[in-house]
Amino acid sequence: MSAGTPARIVVVGNGIAGLTAADTLREAGFDGELTIVGDEPHPAYSRPALSKALLLDGDDVSSHELPPACHGATERLGVRASGLLLDRRLVTLDDGSALPYDRVVLATGSRARRLSDLPEELTLRGLDDALLLRSRLAGRPSVVVVGGGPLGMEIASACLASGCRVTLVSQGLPLTGRLGPYLAGVFVKAALDLGLTVIETGSARLERRGGSARVVLDDGAVLTAEILVTAVGDIPNTEWLAGTGLTAEGAVPVDSRGLVRPDIAAVGDLAALPTPNGLRRLPFWNSAIEQAKVAARALVRGDDAPPLRFQPYFWTEQFGLSLKAVGHLPLEGEPTYVDGEPGGGPALLRWSHDDGTGVAVALNYRIPIPRLRRAAQAAA
Ligand SMILES: Cc1cc2nc3c(=O)[nH]c(=O)nc-3n(C[C@H](O)[C@H](O)[C@H](O)COP(=O)(O)OP(=O)(O)OC[C@H]3O[C@@H](n4cnc5c(N)ncnc54)[C@H](O)[C@@H]3O)c2cc1C
Repeated sequence: MSAGTPARIVVVGNGIAGLTAADTLREAGFDGELTIVGDEPHPAYSRPALSKALLLDGDDVSSHELPPACHGATERLGVRASGLLLDRRLVTLDDGSALPYDRVVLATGSRARRLSDLPEELTLRGLDDALLLRSRLAGRPSVVVVGGGPLGMEIASACLASGCRVTLVSQGLPLTGRLGPYLAGVFVKAALDLGLTVIETGSARLERRGGSARVVLDDGAVLTAEILVTAVGDIPNTEWLAGTGLTAEGAVPVDSRGLVRPDIAAVGDLAALPTPNGLRRLPFWNSAIEQAKVAARALVRGDDAPPLRFQPYFWTEQFGLSLKAVGHLPLEGEPTYVDGEPGGGPALLRWSHDDGTGVAVALNYRIPIPRLRRAAQAAA
């Protein structure tokens, strides 16, 4: 193998970042031996669908499916990578085998952070979690959701739509940290109108008392329900990289092309990339896709490949509202209504920055994403 022409590439992680990296490697001309390792038994699927259509769509359990992969890689599914031996260029697997590589893509994503080790604590990260929650909702149980971010709110929305009585526990006003106070206010009003009970607290913990699990708030108040779900953040899956020196502060730092070093890329939820605010994880679907495209090209083409430049794109669907946003969130201050008006109808909103760019937000508003991107650029 010459330095410029890898013969064997291993992608570790079969989520959207790993899948996109594999597809892009092929598009970039890599025709050597490609192997994808994924510890879930399922083919790659849409994770965002798990807290949206998959929990809601009656008998339809297909909303998470992605088109069949066409990268022609050897797929090792249901197998976990247990280590990376840098000096021997080997990925070791928990079935005792090992995969040699010339280049490797680290794409093992993250997992749900838990508040306890109680089996009653449900989280939503993978397809199996979503199918379990979906089946439990059929009995219309009472539900407490801990976590007022987009995921906690989407779960609460789906539980409410399934006919459950739902209480959401949030540190401060739900969604404020992600969206900013203006948009958070719009969503929380919609949630309250539909019957969600919101409790703002400092921190909550889970404990078992008298044989059943319960949520204890910082003022000592206790909440019980038939289902307890937490959505309190994620933890990158970096344990298998122990001893490599590739991790820092729980993530894998990369350069502007997604490379850790010339033969190793890290993409998606486990990577910390350069941003105007320093090295940060951007654990979102489109970010994973864009990172993976750039890094895969860089693995094949080196410095000739362009660095990452993208406008962040985020969306959520909950409580009868759909939001699509291009640009950096959260947002401070009041928006300009480009179309529509305050009060709940379809609207296109803008927040402007001093440099002439801005953030465009479509609220229940049908607009093609390229137009939304242009609206963000034109937000001066
Ligand atoms: C329920 C839910 C809803 C979401 N909704 C949105 C949304 O609306 N908008 C948005 O922008 N983002 C959303 N996100 C975030 C988005 O889905 C993630 O940012 C994205 O899926 C990250 O992709 P990834 O490939 O980096 O990681 P993952 O999707 O986590 O994939 C990593 C894969 O690697 C596997 N793996 C882990 N360790 C190993 C190992 N040692 N060996 C082999 N395989 C391993 C994991 O099991 C997993 O299959 C949501 C996330 C969740 C959980």
